[in-house]
Amino acid sequence: MKNIIFIAPPAAGKGTYSKLLQDKYNIPHISTGDLLRDEVNKGTSLGQEIAEDMKTGKLISDDIITNLLKNRLKEEDCNNGYILDGYPRNIAQAKTYEEMLASLNKDLGLVIYLEVDKDLALNRALYRVVCPNCGASFNTKIDAFKPKEDGICDICHHQLETRKDDNEQTFLKRFDTYLENTSALINYYQEKGVLRKIKSENNDTNEIMLNKIRGVIND
Ligand code: AMP
Repeated sequence: MKNIIFIAPPAAGKGTYSKLLQDKYNIPHISTGDLLRDEVNKGTSLGQEIAEDMKTGKLISDDIITNLLKNRLKEEDCNNGYILDGYPRNIAQAKTYEEMLASLNKDLGLVIYLEVDKDLALNRALYRVVCPNCGASFNTKIDAFKPKEDGICDICHHQLETRKDDNEQTFLKRFDTYLENTSALINYYQEKGVLRKIKSENNDTNEIMLNKIRGVIND
């Protein structure tokens, strides 16, 4: 299986689709947002520094991310491919990532770009609830993504919660920062011939999206 970089705006559903791919291909889903949240949960001084920036939607410094990600990619479960979610977010990170791959003797693989309209992503963010225990994500407004029981995770039955950065102001800042940084990144990967684009529409179920993604992985 190829290594996959999954690029999408916040709340486009990439966390959900990455988890579906993880199960389908038996490769790990590595989200830099999750790596950072894990560090915050450990309560270290680094974690406290990260928490402040994450609350306001600021990007975390490259040194911190590089360190956390490199350690994760060295783990054995990454040897047969992985899905990288939330990284790289700009050209500087893309170049650092290539150095990291060379030092780990790994290939760049494929870059999947998931397009989604801003209004649709905003709706998904404002009504998103996540499971702090297993990472599953649900939506209290969109029928296809509602949890079976209000406030309870379908998978592990833990209490669901709202992410601190899912308020409208922080979301719009994250979306705009994303757009500012991503267009150059998309061109960068397009020129390398590794970019595959797909679009998420309002009524797309998980199954439809998974098929779209599998289509570009296998072509
Ligand atoms: P995400 O879970 O990908 O939406 O990321 C949540 C937050 O984590 C972002 O708003 C950033 O503060 C931080 N973050 C995640 N990935 C990166 C990255 N590659 N570079 C810098 N900051 C990041």
